[in-house]
Amino acid sequence: MRQTLLQNPVFAMAAEQFDQVADFLNLPDDLRERCKWPKRFITVTVPIRRDDGSTEVFFGHRVQHHLTRGPVKGGLRYHPSVDLGEITALAIWMTWKCALMDLPFGGGKGGIACDPRTMSSGELERLTRRFTMEMIPFIGPEIDVMAPDMGTNEQTMAWMTDTYSTHTGHLVPSIVTGKPLNLQGSSGRARATGHGVAFIASNALHQLGLRVDGASAVVQGFGNVGSHTAYTLASHGVHVRGVSDVNGAIWNDRGLDLTKLRHHVAKTGTVIGFNEADAMDPELLLQQACDILAPCALDRVITAENAPLLRCRILAEGANGPTTPEADRILEARGDVFVIPDVLCNAGGVTVSYFEWVQNFQHFLWTEREVITRLETMLQKAYTKVTGFAKRHQISHRTAAQAIAIQTVADVKSSRGLFP
Ligand code: NAD
Repeated sequence: MRQTLLQNPVFAMAAEQFDQVADFLNLPDDLRERCKWPKRFITVTVPIRRDDGSTEVFFGHRVQHHLTRGPVKGGLRYHPSVDLGEITALAIWMTWKCALMDLPFGGGKGGIACDPRTMSSGELERLTRRFTMEMIPFIGPEIDVMAPDMGTNEQTMAWMTDTYSTHTGHLVPSIVTGKPLNLQGSSGRARATGHGVAFIASNALHQLGLRVDGASAVVQGFGNVGSHTAYTLASHGVHVRGVSDVNGAIWNDRGLDLTKLRHHVAKTGTVIGFNEADAMDPELLLQQACDILAPCALDRVITAENAPLLRCRILAEGANGPTTPEADRILEARGDVFVIPDVLCNAGGVTVSYFEWVQNFQHFLWTEREVITRLETMLQKAYTKVTGFAKRHQISHRTAAQAIAIQTVADVKSSRGLFP
């Protein structure tokens, strides 16, 4: 029953990683089961009126993995591939990320199976508002707090805030994070994930004895995470030579002018056609020689096929789940690629989401400098913890990061008893 419900390759990945780490930790069987399986699976139908007058029914999901250490926290994704198995895997990874960063949250994830690129703004608004209405019995600032993910953005969060607040009768900004600044969003939230990826990748360069200024990078995906990763790296003097999006990849040997590229993307909606770069096969982009390769788009893009062909020194996982377990084993055996696992590398987003949630409760907004300084302190601490643990136990960074997190969750479950 469990396997049928969650049949999905991304869930299979998260489950395999968990089993491996639970073996490493010698987690007793009862705790193992309780840490692995989500507390709640919520699936709703979301009927909306399309612009042509027809009615279409979408399927939406929210998985609340754990409420043991606090409310559930995690993004909302709009993508055609969304299903319960994928969302469950992403919720599980969110739990490990929050525990690793020592945030008082459990992991959650939501998603609607739809293609936002083919929908008008009006249709997306109706979809978001109806989904939020369906979720009202299950969410709240102390229960479950959503945020943007692939295919959603701060406008989506503004519609969710408004729908929830209209229901309660007063403004409740703490119901979601990643809101626009004029709705009590946090300074620095939009760039937080990409800033974190670049910050952690720079730490790794230092640790490997390489210079940040003059290093080279390739970034897959040019949405929220990819674009801010690229901008931040470039602001530290890194030459971002190649980037891609869903439409294709581009390359410039001398490094892309990201200010010009930003204008090009704002005008055309894609990196393709940028006149200061050549087109490149998107798969070949991943195999170019560089110091930092940052996959910031989809899951399962580093596979058994291309892992032997990677020529990066650092693999900085901006996306969730970009590396399959088979590819992980190949990279571990190679030993020449410094992998920064997703739960550490892209944790900047949820960390600043936590700051936003705290600010909303305090009704007191922090400056961008305060946000970024606190973010870097917390990321630095987690980075040191993970790399130190991996070295001490002679295990991969991914196993180390998840082991620290799973033990944290297991300990709280043991303290609280059988209910949570
Ligand atoms: P987004 O929707 O803003 O951007 C996604 C980007 O990926 C777009 O540029 C899109 O064109 C590109 N893309 C899609 N298919 C592609 C393909 N086949 N090849 C190359 N590029 C492709 O999404 P996002 O918020 O930037 O999220 C990206 C990843 O980062 C996801 O895995 C998400 O779960 C993860 N993540 C996001 C955040 C956040 O704060 N937004 C935080 C942590 C992790």
